[in-house]
Amino acid sequence: MFNTNFLKNSFDATKIMYNLDKRAYIKNFAVGIVQTITIVANTILMQFFIDALANTVGNNKTIGIIALLIGLAVVTVLSEIINGYQNYLYGYYIDNGVKILTDLLHEKISEFERIKLDDSNELANIERARKGVGNLVELVLVLGDAITFYGLYFILLGIYFFSIDKKMIIILPMIFVPVMLSHLSKIKLFSDMDEKISMYKIQMKHFISCFTKNNYLREMKYLNAEAFFKNKFYESLKSFQHEIFSTNKKAAKKDFIGKMLTFIGTVAIILLLTAELINGNITVGVFGAVFAALKQMFSLMDELISVHFGDAMENIGTVEATINLINEKNDTNVYNDYTDFTKIKFNNVSFTYPHQKKSALDNISFEIHKGEKIALVGPNGSGKSTLSKLIIGLYKPSRGLITVDKSKLRLYKDKRTAIFQEYVKYKMSVEDNIKISDFDKKESVKSKIDLYAKDLKIDLHTRLGKEFGNEDLSGGQWQSLAIARGFYKDAGLIILDEPTAAIDPIKEDSYYSLFQQELKDKTAILVTHHLASVKIADRIIYLKDGRIKEEGSFDKLMSMKGEFYRLYSTQANKYKK
Ligand code: ADP
Ligand code: MG
Repeated sequence: MFNTNFLKNSFDATKIMYNLDKRAYIKNFAVGIVQTITIVANTILMQFFIDALANTVGNNKTIGIIALLIGLAVVTVLSEIINGYQNYLYGYYIDNGVKILTDLLHEKISEFERIKLDDSNELANIERARKGVGNLVELVLVLGDAITFYGLYFILLGIYFFSIDKKMIIILPMIFVPVMLSHLSKIKLFSDMDEKISMYKIQMKHFISCFTKNNYLREMKYLNAEAFFKNKFYESLKSFQHEIFSTNKKAAKKDFIGKMLTFIGTVAIILLLTAELINGNITVGVFGAVFAALKQMFSLMDELISVHFGDAMENIGTVEATINLINEKNDTNVYNDYTDFTKIKFNNVSFTYPHQKKSALDNISFEIHKGEKIALVGPNGSGKSTLSKLIIGLYKPSRGLITVDKSKLRLYKDKRTAIFQEYVKYKMSVEDNIKISDFDKKESVKSKIDLYAKDLKIDLHTRLGKEFGNEDLSGGQWQSLAIARGFYKDAGLIILDEPTAAIDPIKEDSYYSLFQQELKDKTAILVTHHLASVKIADRIIYLKDGRIKEEGSFDKLMSMKGEFYRLYSTQANKYKK
């Protein structure tokens, strides 16, 4: 039932949750221990009570009986109260545990190497880890309960039985074995069913969306295919129901076998108790107390094995994903200081995206000096964006070395850089859309708005986005905001990756003269198809197929009459016409 992976994951999960909130963990299980003690105390008091009752037949010691009766009542009520409190704690522990674990997970994901977010396997792992959060918290509770509640319960019972008569200890396996056997007989049944119905579930979901989603519905009407889809849906539904029905039928049979096993266990225990009673090894009180607690013993054992461990085993895969993600080591405290360096140097750097054969960058070597402006030019897919991301430390080279002065370039953790390309539309106020690049900065965003987004004529505090009943911005307006956002931050190194792709040509020209001002004291990498603007660069790097084809000042590349020259001339001619 338990493999080593299960044990290791259980241990790791417990360690994580214990370290996250030690007090809550201890409190939860301390209360569990108290509850267990009251339940066992109840059984023992019951024995004393029955024994006292049996002994008083004939004489008149009623005071002792009344005292025991009161004691029994108090313990019963106490046990109920503690049970209620324990349930409350349990619920709280799950809610709070899920919250802090989710926070931790998000923190970990934010520390991820950026390249992982380009890797579909990694994304699937993140998704699994997210699903595992709730399961992990529940696993930890089940494990704690298994020890402090169920485990302790059966240990205390064992001690109690043993102290009365050694033979009585055999009662424990008489409970455990039938419950275990009936669980094992069912375990495969439901996992098989889950596997079979998951396909039907996906099918049904798809057909339902065909009926409810706009674009599908339109096409369905156009094809006159309603009846066809309805039939498809009912077919899946029928198979789905059939699978569940037949599994439940089988489960009912197995349940019957399980009940028989439990019955056999119960009868065996009663026979044992009777024999012990006749032989004078136990008192009537012990017989009565154990007899009264039998149902509880079976149901607790069943709860532990089929419900709790059943769920835990089923969910252990997602729990493992969560543990792996949380225990992943990321170097968090290191960063590159892009305000204080003399040069960034690429030494034979190559880069390949995950699961790709062809490299995006092939053997790149060049230097960037502090304060320099470099333009990256080249056809689509030549590696300009990839190279920008390596410069800033978002991606690590697959081969070769990048250094900042004497030290190796670290992964991107630094505040002193800004990159803007695929502009994001944050559904927040105009002000927050800009402030997000540097939240600690006190300066008003107004100066940047005036430069780049004056024509928006939207109040700084208006939340953007149709969802809030506001006018949405056009693509170009969103990109203007993104530019304002990028320049709001005091960055030492700035990457402008096609920053004006969505902006109209007239504005574009004025933006480039603004950029020239903004970039004056900064190191900047400019990726652009707006070739007129590459003149603001000190140096141009012309990329093709991931390699540096031409490199030098504008004048030098023009006089070389190579690929850059041809590209520039074509564009310039277009404008002349
Ligand atoms: P550019 O910015 O010059 O258009 P990119 O740097 O975006 O070029 O792309 C360089 C090469 O890497 C292209 O062949 C592209 O298909 C590939 N590439 C870019 N991004 C990814 C990615 N996330 N996963 C796999 N391949 C990618
Ligand atoms: Mg690009």
